Parts: sequence; C-alpha cells; structure tokens
Amino acid sequence: MVIKVALAGPRGKMGKEAVATIIKNKDFLLVAVLDSKKDMESIGDRVPTFTSLQLLIEQTEPDVLVDLTVPSAVFDHAMTALEYGVRPVIGTTGFTDLQLDTLRNKVEERQVGCIIAPNFSIGAVLMMKFAQTAAKYLPNVEIIEMHHDQKVDAPSGTAIKTAQMIQQTRSSMEQGHPSEEETIQGARGANVDGMRIHSVRLPGLVAHQQVLLGGEGQLLTLRHDSFDRASFMSGIVLSIEEVVKRNVLIYGLEDIIL
Ligand code: NAP
Repeated sequence: MVIKVALAGPRGKMGKEAVATIIKNKDFLLVAVLDSKKDMESIGDRVPTFTSLQLLIEQTEPDVLVDLTVPSAVFDHAMTALEYGVRPVIGTTGFTDLQLDTLRNKVEERQVGCIIAPNFSIGAVLMMKFAQTAAKYLPNVEIIEMHHDQKVDAPSGTAIKTAQMIQQTRSSMEQGHPSEEETIQGARGANVDGMRIHSVRLPGLVAHQQVLLGGEGQLLTLRHDSFDRASFMSGIVLSIEEVVKRNVLIYGLEDIIL
C-alpha cells in the first residue's frame, strides 16, 4: 500500500532534500506540503502547498506528516496531526520536556504512532549508543556539538538525546574540580547531571558531534560527522515506513534500528 505523506518545511535545507527523497520513493505519495508563506509555487504538477495544517489534512488526508521546520512551530503541528489521526515523523529539534510529555500523552490517547528523531543518521545513532555503553566505564563525559550558524536551538537535539541516553548508564555526578569557577560565564558549557555540553555554531559546518570520555591516563573520543544532508534521508524513509505500523511514541531511531 502506498503511504500518503505530507511535509512541513519544504523550502528548508532539510525539507528540500526530503521532498526529493519522498517523490522518488515508489512506496510513498507526496500529497501536500505545509509552508509558512503563501508565495511558494506548487511542487511538480500535483503537490499543493498549504499554510494551514488543518486545511491540508482535511483536503489531502495524509497518513504521515514529516516535520522539518522550526522549534516554535513543530509542537502545534504534531498535536494537530495526532488530533486528526495523522502520524508525525519529526526531525525538527528543540522540544521541551513538557512538550514531549504532552505529546506522549496525546499519542496514548489517540493510539496513533509518532516518531521523533533528533538525528536521522545511522552513524549518529550508533555514536550515541556507543557513548552510552562507554560512559558505564568512563563516566567523565563532555559533549561537543558543532552545527551551521543558521541553527536556532542550542544545544542540538542530538546532544540532548546523547546526554539522556548516557544518564541511563551513568550515575549523576559533578565533573571537574569541586571548586571550579567560570571567570567568563558559559565557559564550561551546559550542565546535564554534571556532563558538559558545548555548542559550536559556524558557517560551513553541517552537523557534527564528539563525545569525549576521560579516564586516568586515557581519553576515548567518539566522533560523527554529517557532511551532507543526504546522510539523514534513509532515516526519514525508514521512519515513514515504521510509523504507520506503530501506535506508540518513539523518541530516537535507536528504538527502531538497534
Ligand atoms: P531551515 O533551512 O531553516 O528550514 C526550516 C524551514 O521551516 C524553513 O523553510 C521555514 O520557512 C520553515 N518553517 C518555519 N515555520 C514554519 C511553519 N510554521 N510551517 C511550515 N514551515 C515553516 O532548517 P533545516 O536545516 O532544514 O532544519 C529544519 C529542522 O530540522 C531544524 O529543527 C533542525 O534542527 C532539524 N534537523 C534535524 C535533523 C535530524 O536528523 N533530525 C537533521 C538536520 C536538521 P521560512 O524560513 O520561510 O519561514
């Protein structure tokens, strides 16, 4: 059966690539796109553009909504989709814990699958998993995430997810010197249970992360680089295929592929 897909954010860096991927997949039909502005032309001959998600869903009846937009819009999109029984596949990052809990409750109430993937790249998912295992033995962890300078949320969803996965294998503990002081605010980065997260934003970068795990006389560095947004596309395809088979919220692709 062909899966009817709608996509929010079609003119973004990720959105453009995802539209091309969905169109060329014979198991998917791109039925509509949701844009924030009215002046976007239709894609191809038959893919209409909407600025209202409600109208888009009522008129084109998608099975799945892929969201690649901005943190300020994605939560409303996901809630609306779930209300209508449309399954969200969300790549947009920047959810608060409260928003995630609200979505989880909504998924339970509606019994409609939803996938939130802070990172669609298989290599990044493996890096997170390896970091989670390594932190059991080397619990002093610092995460350095590096992205292009147009990214609006920090730290990245991948860094937050990595820290959350590590929290499952590492006890809460403060790192560094007990009386360490920042002489310039922010020098030690964000603090998650004592783990430090540092966000770098520079033109030229795409999406990169290092997890540094230090021990006596040793350092383990796990590094992943997405050089191109093509690295995310197979994860989007997999998520669309999987979300129609599920009725729970999946947060992170590791629950599907590992
Ligand atoms: P981008 O180039 O800034 O694209 C975002 C797009 O969303 C823009 O075209 C923007 O349009 C559109 N938009 C904003 N508000 C909207 C709304 N209310 N309805 C519909 N569209 C709206 O960003 P990007 O690099 O493509 O990234 C998009 C998101 O994906 C970000 O949250 C990023 O962190 C995330 N991301 C995730 C992964 C992953 O693997 N999960 C990988 C890379 C990026 P206007 O500018 O015209 O408003």
